[in-house]
Amino acid sequence: MLAELLLKWPLIRQLKTGGDGTGQEAMSDRTRALKPRNEGASMARSICPYCAVGCGQLVYHRDGKVINIEGDPESPISRGHLCPKGAASFELVTHEARATKVKYRAPFAKEWREIPLEEAMDMVADRVWQTRERTFDPTVMHTTGLAHLGGATLDDEENYLIKKLFTAGLGMVCISNQARI
Ligand code: SF4
Repeated sequence: MLAELLLKWPLIRQLKTGGDGTGQEAMSDRTRALKPRNEGASMARSICPYCAVGCGQLVYHRDGKVINIEGDPESPISRGHLCPKGAASFELVTHEARATKVKYRAPFAKEWREIPLEEAMDMVADRVWQTRERTFDPTVMHTTGLAHLGGATLDDEENYLIKKLFTAGLGMVCISNQARI
């Protein structure tokens, strides 16, 4: 028993193996049993959703769950780097406080209630159309009662469609997104 304990002592292991104290001889059983968290996981390439830089990400997943997100070394834009926001994007999809249901608080109500996504989308569409009807000026063919602020990861095609729908379709003049680069 004592001999067994002594053999676990890193100094004895170092003397036995002749190591310099930085290799296996310095490891506890627990450390030796540790495995890389990505081991055996599948990986998908993606783009950070936060800003217009569009850094490359490697999204590791196992059993249908995201287990880790890292910078993509093959991205010509970011070469494996992520800023603190991008490095924390794992929590964007996994944090327990992440909202996954649509919540609606009616005018003057004190409580939020959950509603189906389809109902929420219909409500948004109804309000957009009512505002457009109320504020559209046919003399100049536009409305200043509506504006659109898009996100940084909208691509060219999406921005084209947004401009076409909101300006040509609804008469909106105030359209912007966060893609400043
Ligand atoms: S990692 Fe940072 S810099 Fe890169 S796209 Fe995400 S938020 Fe932008």
